[in-house]
Amino acid sequence: MSAAIETPGFIASAVRTDAPPAIVLDKVNKWFGALHVLRDVDLQVAAGERVVVCGPSGSGKSTMIRCINRLETHQEGHILVDGIELSDDVRALGAIRREVGMVFQSFNLFPHLSVLENCTLAPIWVRKMPKKDAEELAMEYLTRVKIPEQAKKYPGQLSGGQQQRVAIARALCMKPKIMLFDEPTSALDPEMIKEVLDTMVMLAGTGMTMIVVTHEMGFARTVADRVVFMDRGEVVEVGTPTQVFNDPKTDRLKLFLSQIL
Ligand code: ADP
Ligand code: MG
Repeated sequence: MSAAIETPGFIASAVRTDAPPAIVLDKVNKWFGALHVLRDVDLQVAAGERVVVCGPSGSGKSTMIRCINRLETHQEGHILVDGIELSDDVRALGAIRREVGMVFQSFNLFPHLSVLENCTLAPIWVRKMPKKDAEELAMEYLTRVKIPEQAKKYPGQLSGGQQQRVAIARALCMKPKIMLFDEPTSALDPEMIKEVLDTMVMLAGTGMTMIVVTHEMGFARTVADRVVFMDRGEVVEVGTPTQVFNDPKTDRLKLFLSQIL
């Protein structure tokens, strides 16, 4: 499962202890109807920190990160993003959406827009950037994710790995402070996983604050400052990749590791 990435050496930690935390979850609870999907979730992510979240299917990983940019709402507890508490305040929501980029398992590109237009849409309409500047910025990020030659194509003409790199470039065009990734490689064929992981390793090297839901242990060991293991809506263990993967404390984590290794 984790063989796809060649460890390019240790990526130096970019954790900033001088800055306030980028993300705070304080006793967060969420229900879908009667289903209790987040149970007293506490988590602090420092500015510049890279956190990998793993856990069995249905354990609440997607719901947790979707609550961070308010694609879902929590019912109890507090979530702060860059010091702003998530609430129904529309202005606060707008500020947070601009600061937080998200990449999904299924890419979610606009199929009727070219790669370039996918990347310039939000900068033009949300950031009010002149079209020419937005295009320059988009080309810069498409170059960073190594697909500038695909700019004029449509998503359907690209491989899955290329589409996911467009999704990453598109998110970066909004100049987010925080990037959330929800299983970005799990819909990809094995030969395309590496190119997407390499892009994320590159991003980690820029000091970006990142939360990445993934079971790619090679990636986690290369870039994660901490790994969070969730099960049944709870944060069960948190530690360095070595602590979590080599020295699990709970039976739940031991069982999970035995299933994915
Ligand atoms: P994971 O990402 O760890 O697989 P999810 O956060 O997607 O877990 O789901 C957690 C639980 O919440 C699961 O039981 C799932 O079926 C349920 N769930 C997720 N989204 C919804 C929704 N929109 N409505 C109802 N239940 C949901
Ligand atoms: Mg999920």
